[in-house]
Amino acid sequence: MARVFNFSAGPSVLPEAVLKTARQDMLDYRGTGMSVMEMSHRSAAFSGIIEEAESRLRDIMNIPTHYKVLFLQGGASTQFAMIPLNLFQNHQKADFIITGSWSKKAAAEARRYGDANIVASSEDRNFSYIPELAGMTFSSDADYVHITTNNTIYGTAFHALPETGDIPLVADMSSNILSEQFDVSRFGIIYAGAQKNIGPAGLTIVIIHEDLIGRALDITPTMLNYATHAEKGSLFNTPPCYSIYMAGLTFMWIQEQGGLAAMEKRNREKAAILYDMLDNSKLFKATAEKESRSLMNITFTLPNDELTTTCLKEAEGEGFVTLKGHRSVGGLRASIYNAMPREGVEKLTQFLKRFENKHR
Ligand code: PMP
Repeated sequence: MARVFNFSAGPSVLPEAVLKTARQDMLDYRGTGMSVMEMSHRSAAFSGIIEEAESRLRDIMNIPTHYKVLFLQGGASTQFAMIPLNLFQNHQKADFIITGSWSKKAAAEARRYGDANIVASSEDRNFSYIPELAGMTFSSDADYVHITTNNTIYGTAFHALPETGDIPLVADMSSNILSEQFDVSRFGIIYAGAQKNIGPAGLTIVIIHEDLIGRALDITPTMLNYATHAEKGSLFNTPPCYSIYMAGLTFMWIQEQGGLAAMEKRNREKAAILYDMLDNSKLFKATAEKESRSLMNITFTLPNDELTTTCLKEAEGEGFVTLKGHRSVGGLRASIYNAMPREGVEKLTQFLKRFENKHR
């Protein structure tokens, strides 16, 4: 079967070159006579894989040496607990900017261990925007400030960062890590589930300032303590070996593409193609407010459920799949992560125009 254009929000499309290399290595990884899936995580071959993956990630994100890179499990959702357990060091209090379901969940989990203070929220207009950052103030006694840089469900993204002064800024970057350049030194912690821009599910990446490691609350389970993993180079126990190998291939692919500057340029162009069409459409309506639009998840609606269903069905017939919007927004969502080729966005846009001409 031919490959489709897969607009899934996650797990999502991976670069074809990465999948082909994985296929090539499947039965015999570089003369070891075994698959990476069959390999001891203590072997020399796997040490090479994890070290290379980390060094490529450090290179593409320009990660300063006083930050640790951790390859963990548990998804971004486990970070919702791990962050307060490790960072509630002084006042057991954190500030949250609520921009969607994921930041709400992060706050709810933190609330189990201390205060989760909401400094701003865009829930009043169904999370269709990012709250105004200028003049926003944070609790002087907060242990961290949490944001979700890209809101996968609602199709919004931060285009500037809040000024948190000495308070560590913690960012859930699950759906836009590696899509554009970020200054890592602005953050205390960046975390992301791998299954969108990095590789297969099962791997969670944490990039953490060294000062935030080693002061976890006493109740913190060993496996949820950043120190456990930092001290052992993410090899305290069996890590998600194959997902780390795949992530390493994606990092190499990004380097070959010209790094994050090139990814960002391409992503801006791809998103503009779709948004321009939506802005000129009488049938489709982009749901996110213009200044807050995501480059990764493009959410839009049609006038009624019947047209939405027809549109999804016809799209699928033409090889554009997993376009159904999340139930809390409805309509359609095109997730156009790094690995979605420009051609996929162009062809989807042409399809949507044809659909509009037929149904207006
Ligand atoms: N945060 C964001 C922004 C997400 O998009 C998701 C999942 N789609 C999560 C957190 C939860 O991630 P996980 O399934 O890895 O726990």
